[in-house]
Amino acid sequence: MKPIVAIVGRPNVGKSTLFNRFTGGRTAIVEDTPGVTRDRLYRDAEWLGREFTVIDTGGIEFYGKGGIIETKVKQQAQLAIEEADVILFVVDGKAGISPDDEAAANLLRRSNKPVVLAVNKIENYQNQDLIYEFFNLGLGDPIPISAAHGMNTGDLLDVIAQNFPPDTAEDLPPETVKIAVIGRPNVGKSSLVNKILGEERLIVSDVAGTTRDAIDSLFEQDGKHYVIIDTAGMRRRARVLEPTERYSVIRSLRAIDRSDVVLMLIDALDGVTEQDKKIAGYAHEAGKGMIIVVNKWDALAKDDKTMNRFDRQVREEMAFLHYAPILYISALTGQRVNKILEIVDFVAEQQNLRVTTARLNEVIDEALAVTPPPTDKGHRLKIFYVTQIGVKPPKFVLFVNEPELLHFSYERYLENQFRKNFGFEGTAIWFIIRKRE
Ligand code: GDP
Ligand code: GDP
Repeated sequence: MKPIVAIVGRPNVGKSTLFNRFTGGRTAIVEDTPGVTRDRLYRDAEWLGREFTVIDTGGIEFYGKGGIIETKVKQQAQLAIEEADVILFVVDGKAGISPDDEAAANLLRRSNKPVVLAVNKIENYQNQDLIYEFFNLGLGDPIPISAAHGMNTGDLLDVIAQNFPPDTAEDLPPETVKIAVIGRPNVGKSSLVNKILGEERLIVSDVAGTTRDAIDSLFEQDGKHYVIIDTAGMRRRARVLEPTERYSVIRSLRAIDRSDVVLMLIDALDGVTEQDKKIAGYAHEAGKGMIIVVNKWDALAKDDKTMNRFDRQVREEMAFLHYAPILYISALTGQRVNKILEIVDFVAEQQNLRVTTARLNEVIDEALAVTPPPTDKGHRLKIFYVTQIGVKPPKFVLFVNEPELLHFSYERYLENQFRKNFGFEGTAIWFIIRKRE
């Protein structure tokens, strides 16, 4: 369970500077994937071995009644109260307390969520006195920091981490496949979940050990166990203003993090949207099993070419998910809904595949012989050795002479050779490149 930390505060207090400091230093295992729409709103970070997700609520747009943009900091606070495990409230030490700070603090104080108060832009000892007035916010001890200079930010993270919920293991039967149903509001998530559960034997809902805002349903089919993580159910319980498109992304993150396989729902009537790409990009980078589910297929006027056209559009718009099966369903009529668990099983198997080192190296040798790597300024890539170091997603270490010589296009070629020989359908593959003399 990755806790979520939401950074709240007025514009210009230093939220994004702090966000970058928390998340920037971390080296990603996966290279940037072309075609993934990046959303700098949320990112993973780590402190003392515990992973967490940081959200900069400053990037979120809020709409109130009649589409008016609401006072931001109050809305941020409200969102954080609903969604986050720990709220980091940032104020500007040089500017002092503003009415907006007070309004947000009033909301935060009345919530049951842990709030950590950071006073930013305190870069030297002469400025330490500036923090005292912030005791008046009634949010406990203000912590002086400088986000820009990295001063005291480690101590701040210590306090944040002390407020994380305990890292409880989920109490599930072994080999349970966890399925997240993801998609924009109204795409049909609840309808699909109900359809699947309606046809299966429900064992329990609200599995012990899961957090308050996740509604999990555990069920069994043919002796196999599944959990469906229902984000739509979470939405129904939220009391906040009508979410904007972007808003529901946050809830989806948590579900994706906890899942093995993601059902990425696309509305047949709308096609692939920007938000679909962002959320799918996140799941892809997290290395989850992916199935693209086009819903409301009943509602589309079709001819014999419609499915092909749709396939092409999805492949083009979500090129990074080239490995994910596409399924056309209707949650309303139940058309092909019974195929879903079959494909989930298949993807779960593929993401756990292990290939022997001998077989891997045979395939690499053959791939190198058929299409040798291109030379770059007279140098040519050599691959000495490959071995698999993990599953879910399958991870491989490639020992090479010069890592810079492995270009994206050649890496894609190797990936395709792996897929041709071993499958890995529905799962990302991670290559970790190591230099060997
Ligand atoms: P946000 O709007 O809350 O996300 O604020 P930003 O992170 O964009 O920062 C707003 C301004 O404050 C920028 O010009 C930053 O360079 C500056 N700033 C951020 N942290 C510090 C700090 O620790 N000290 C000082 N003096 N300026 C800072
Ligand atoms: P959620 O917000 O993603 O949970 O979406 P819902 O399951 O609440 O569905 C939103 C609306 O779309 C409801 O009116 C559903 O009846 C409708 N809907 C869901 N699935 C289908 C489908 O396969 N075909 C059609 N025509 N309508 C659907």
